[in-house]
Amino acid sequence: MPIYDFRCEDCGHKFTLLMGISERDKVTCPRCGSKKVSQLITGCAVQVKGGGGCGGGRTGSGSAGG
Ligand SMILES: [Zn+2]
Repeated sequence: MPIYDFRCEDCGHKFTLLMGISERDKVTCPRCGSKKVSQLITGCAVQVKGGGGCGGGRTGSGSAGG
């Protein structure tokens, strides 16, 4: 099950939820209970110019493993 990050547009509270895709529609802010929450983009969905971002890439020597 994927993890989604949300941000409340009313109080600005950020929170992470573990839920199915179909449940994203009924997300409410755990702090103020507002339904005005916007989903944040997480993971490697963002393309960063010049590498980096996704914390992978080859940075010379030294491998931290998986
Ligand atoms: Zn809120």
